[in-house]
Amino acid sequence: MGKRMIVRRRNIPCSICERVMHVVFYRDRSYRGGHYFGKIPMYRKSELDKMRHRGLHKSNITPTWTVDVYNYDPKPYAHFEYWECPECYWHPRVRINEIRASRVKVAVKKKRC
Ligand SMILES: [Zn+2]
Repeated sequence: MGKRMIVRRRNIPCSICERVMHVVFYRDRSYRGGHYFGKIPMYRKSELDKMRHRGLHKSNITPTWTVDVYNYDPKPYAHFEYWECPECYWHPRVRINEIRASRVKVAVKKKRC
């Protein structure tokens, strides 16, 4: 039995609404207080322009599902930790991933200045 050992506490802003989450990390590498999605790569404009100029090709994920894939993989210059607070995670105001992704870009811009 016994309580799980807390190894670290961090105040992390939600990547969508910017509300600060109090995230607690445990010794067993679990955490609570927020939802971590991993590191989001950040790209320079020149890399994104290169990607746009090289164009797209179609790729089949399944026989009935085709997606557009960029011919060039831009190289990130840094990574940004993407976190969502429980409110944004469980009750998203937007359902489309693209909108979520654009909010990440906004969050990244704010962090840089
Ligand atoms: Zn939030």
